Amino acid sequence: MRIVLLGAPGSGKGTQGKRLAEEHGIPQISTGDLLRAAVAAGTPLGERARAAMEAGQLVSDDVVVGLIRERLGGSDAAGGFILDGFPRNVAQAEALDSMLEEIGRPLQAALHIEVDFDILMKRLTGRRTCEECGQMYNIYTSPPRVEGRCDKCGGRLVQRADDNEETISRRLEVYRSQTMPLIDYYHRQGKLLDVDGDGEVDEVHARIAGQLKGLA
Ligand code: AMP
Repeated sequence: MRIVLLGAPGSGKGTQGKRLAEEHGIPQISTGDLLRAAVAAGTPLGERARAAMEAGQLVSDDVVVGLIRERLGGSDAAGGFILDGFPRNVAQAEALDSMLEEIGRPLQAALHIEVDFDILMKRLTGRRTCEECGQMYNIYTSPPRVEGRCDKCGGRLVQRADDNEETISRRLEVYRSQTMPLIDYYHRQGKLLDVDGDGEVDEVHARIAGQLKGLA
């Protein structure tokens, strides 16, 4: 399976992507995760990306396209992949298309997870992540049993640096102006699949599985 997950910040791309990746035995590749790891490790690439990320702006196309090119060349991606948070604009989508064309393995679908903007704000401000194992929580809708601690491993729950209200508004605006045109881009290619992303994780997963039925 070779697919892209499209959706606003907070639409559930990461959560659903991880689950699909586990089920299909293929990697979920998130440019946001790769960039956060580079920032945390203090690499030159991380230093280049940090300011844009903190401001809620997009990191430059050459940085993220380079990351994706390297990651898709990994042996674990040979059997397929789920891209989460990439592409974010038309230039990135075109770069991805030509990369995949070169290896004769075109994208099969772009799954668009739709969630109303007012629900997104609540999901994003409430979002907490375990710094040890990456398990996600939401203090409003799916809180941990013990405040601030991960149910699975007891790790500390942290809020992403860019999950504050000001940066969230900027990220939603960037999504609206730069990423939403991809809906039309993939629609014109006949690859767009729409899913209602409102509801419980299991419910949304079932809808997604229904849409992806038949894709190997
Ligand atoms: P995410 O975890 O997908 O919400 O991404 C967090 C931040 O990383 C974004 O707000 C951007 O600053 C940066 N980022 C992630 N993916 C991309 C991308 N494909 N293009 C440019 N910037 C990105």
